[in-house]
Formats: sequence, structure tokens, C-alpha cells
Amino acid sequence: MTDLLREKLYRSEAIVLNRMDYGEADRILVILTPARGKLDVIAKGARKAQSRLGPQLDYFARVNLELARGRELDVIRSVESIDRFPHLRENLEAFGHASYFVELVKNLTQPREEHREVYDLLARSLVLLNEKVDPWVIARHFELALLTALGYHPELFHCVNCRQPIQPEVNAFSAELGGLLCPRCRNEDPASITLSLTAQKYLRLLEREGLAAAARIKPSPADKIEVQQVTSHYVRHVAERDFHSLRVLGALQQATPERAPGAG
Ligand SMILES: [Zn+2]
Repeated sequence: MTDLLREKLYRSEAIVLNRMDYGEADRILVILTPARGKLDVIAKGARKAQSRLGPQLDYFARVNLELARGRELDVIRSVESIDRFPHLRENLEAFGHASYFVELVKNLTQPREEHREVYDLLARSLVLLNEKVDPWVIARHFELALLTALGYHPELFHCVNCRQPIQPEVNAFSAELGGLLCPRCRNEDPASITLSLTAQKYLRLLEREGLAAAARIKPSPADKIEVQQVTSHYVRHVAERDFHSLRVLGALQQATPERAPGAG
């Protein structure tokens, strides 16, 4: 091996977030790594029948990779499987949830931004799904923990408007303001979602004590609906806000190429 090649090589653990066919026999993959964040990489010849790369680089697969830095895309040189999560490929509900998790990570992280916490969260959540833990609990925990890791920690103990401690009564959750609103401030966000006391307790448990504690409690069907409305709505709200900001930024840059967005 030449020194030049050795300099270009690096190793990383990774989870496959997405993959698409490219050219005659190659595949482009979107992977998440602990230290380098989200990356687009290429697996050359991965679609050839005799390829040693292809079979190991399935959706959600957790792998050890050896990569070479490329001019545009880094190139996968070898793959070693860590976990293929077989249950996720046999069970539609588990597959659907795993797809949702990787979709969220793909959409809410920026390329080449270090996200160790997100990497560990995704890896742990896939392991639990594969071990047949209730997907509903894993998903609600995933949404809350992902938001927290990305700087959108939901405020569940003080009113996000008047800052008074939240009282044990019916309150409302505002995705726009990122937390609970007390009954007096509820109208600050007409789109806020009403939450029963038990649903609030469950959210706090999930957020504070984590998945193991939450998995021991069986919320009522009504509480489940409320909790899911809050976590899923909040995640969608953050995702759309991010996409929206990117679109606005892109449009501004096209309209006024000589000025920075927001200038003047
Ligand atoms: Zn208030």
C-alpha cells in the first residue's frame, strides 16, 4: 500500500440510513457515523452478484467500514457486519418503525456534523426494536430523545410563556413554543394540544427516566393518543421548520446572489 493511499484511508462504524443504485453496478449510501455524522459514500460494484460489499450494506445495517477519502464521495473499501437486525427485515411493524427512525435522522441532521448522541440513540433503538420491545414506546422515546439531542428539549415543568411551575391539572403542549402552556397562557398558541394529567406524567417519565422506566407502565389508549400527538407533532414541526428555513435560505441566495441572506 502506498503512503498516499494510507493517508486517505480511515475506519468508522456506521448505520445505513438509505441507499440508491448508481451507474451500472454501484450503490450510493447515506450513512450515519459517530464522529463524522451523516455522509454520502459509494460502494463500487455493490450490485454485482459476486460483490462482498452488497449483502452487508442493507437498510439499517450496523457495520464497520474502511473508507478512502474521494474527491466527491468517500469510497467503501471493506465492510464488516456488526448487526443486521434480522427481526426488522421479517416484521412489517418493526421495519416501519426502523424506517421512520432513519428518515428522521436523515432529515434532521446536517452532513458531516458530529452526532455521537444521535448515533447511540439510533443504534440502541434499532437493537430494542430487533429484540421485540414494544415499538410504540421505543418510537415515543426516540422522538423525544432525538429532539433533545438536537437542541429542542421540550419544557415539561414550567409554562413556556409565564415561566410559572406547571400545576397538576390539564395543560397544553405547544410545538411552536417547545413545551407546556398553563391554562392561563394556553391561548398564546391556538394550535397547542390539550394534555391530561396522566399523559403529562407519562411524557415526563419518558423524558426523565428513559425508556426502561416508561416500558414498565401501560398508558391508557387515550393517553397514548395524546402522548403520540405531542411527540410526533413536535418532531414534524421541528423538521418542517428546518426544511422551511433551508428553502427560504436557498430562495434568498438565488434571488440576491451578491448579498448575504438577511442583509439590508
Ligand atoms: Zn403560563
